[in-house]
Amino acid sequence: MALKMKLYNTKSRSIEEFTPLKEGVVTMYACGPTVYDFTHIGHMRKYIGDDILRRTLSYLGYEVKHVMNITDVGHLTNDSDQGDDKFEGKAKAEGKSVWDIAKFYTEYFNKTIKAVNILFPTVQPRATDHIPEQIKLIEKLLIKGFAYETDEAIYFDVTKDPHYGELSGQKLSDKEIGARDEVVVDKDKRHPADFVLWFKLVGKFTDHIMHWPSPWGDGFPGWHIECSAMSMKYLGETIDIHTGGIDHIPVHHENEIAQSECATGHEFVRFWVHHEFLNVDGEKMSKSKHNFYTLDDIQSRNIDPIAMRILVMGTSYRKPLNFTWESLESANKTLNRIRSFGAKSGTGGKVVDKYKNSFLEAISEDLNMAKALAVIFEILNDKNHDKKDLWATLLDLDQVLGLNLKDIPIFTITVEAQNLVLKRDKARTEKDFITSDKLRLELESLGYEVLDTPNGTKLQ
Ligand code: AMP
Ligand code: ZN
Repeated sequence: MALKMKLYNTKSRSIEEFTPLKEGVVTMYACGPTVYDFTHIGHMRKYIGDDILRRTLSYLGYEVKHVMNITDVGHLTNDSDQGDDKFEGKAKAEGKSVWDIAKFYTEYFNKTIKAVNILFPTVQPRATDHIPEQIKLIEKLLIKGFAYETDEAIYFDVTKDPHYGELSGQKLSDKEIGARDEVVVDKDKRHPADFVLWFKLVGKFTDHIMHWPSPWGDGFPGWHIECSAMSMKYLGETIDIHTGGIDHIPVHHENEIAQSECATGHEFVRFWVHHEFLNVDGEKMSKSKHNFYTLDDIQSRNIDPIAMRILVMGTSYRKPLNFTWESLESANKTLNRIRSFGAKSGTGGKVVDKYKNSFLEAISEDLNMAKALAVIFEILNDKNHDKKDLWATLLDLDQVLGLNLKDIPIFTITVEAQNLVLKRDKARTEKDFITSDKLRLELESLGYEVLDTPNGTKLQ
């Protein structure tokens, strides 16, 4: 039987004991990226967070069915159906087709998640491959009277759903006030919070490139309906866990709940898990603000992208994390320290129960990864146990950490390192301690522990 864990549920605004609907199996849906621009390290934080949750559940003994979609249609520049189509704008700017834009940035996303050792989802469905499923769901909502048609679109009627707004705690009357901000209003739209299920090819969308036939004429789906349709298709009408960034709570997830529960008549998601942002200078890192760094930026600084996992784990997924290069460099050093520990430890040891138990306790406490990392440091500093056993423990815990420790190289002193050692010994003989300290740091960043001995620099 799988072990229990505690998880914060946005829906109840409290930490609850997690148990899945079906014993031993967890169904988990993660809102995927909108693939019109580069994946950045803010996304990395969110998807590493999902990955840690998934790995934790597997480690506790559950089978996890993990669906993460790719949004390649319907997402406008404003989440509330205002503004322009993100893909068309980008296609124009880059002189490519919308399809090429989606393909290129999906590949970049997948390359990024692979580089940080995120387990690939069980299914990664694309919204454009699921148009019939979305149309079917919209038809159901129309038949049941939860949606209506205008000359411009099919809308979900939020006033028909007595639970609308419960996830974020917003009142519909507050949304009325928001109506004043709407730039373009469909005159037949009944309530400002009504959201688009299907856009028709009229007005500014007359020449919209991505479009499909539907019972309401050619058009394309709104952003929210895709997640309901794909979640239901692959995981069933009620799922255990749905994840997203905190920005999704007030609009996207509120809308997903409304359309799904009104269509099926029962609960859509049991646990809502939301990740806080990765910020730069106190502001959300985002594509639209152009304040972002990508996988390439990390690699161009000779930092292993997997170090992002250590950085992310240092802060609770429910707290903002301010990114600095210094903090990532320090995480990279920790990663190197763990690897060199392994390279010198030998194999075939036995897991140390006391560490496994403290680690289990930490991850089961709403993913307290900072506490879990503290256990890792305890292991690294342990002088009492056999190193082989400590390494066996780290390898076992790495099923959750995802640092890919099983693939660490055997300890060798490279030619590059040997040259640095020669330079450093020369600097020390000449009492040039500034250079010798710089060379020490360089050697450490290559993963070596640097010792000063009477015979000069020694690496281990
Ligand atoms: P998007 O491609 O903008 O739809 O974002 C995909 C996912 O990444 C969503 O769940 C967002 O909430 C999340 N996300 C976007 N930017 C950040 C950030 N700076 N920090 C953490 N998560 C983010
Ligand atoms: Zn979604």
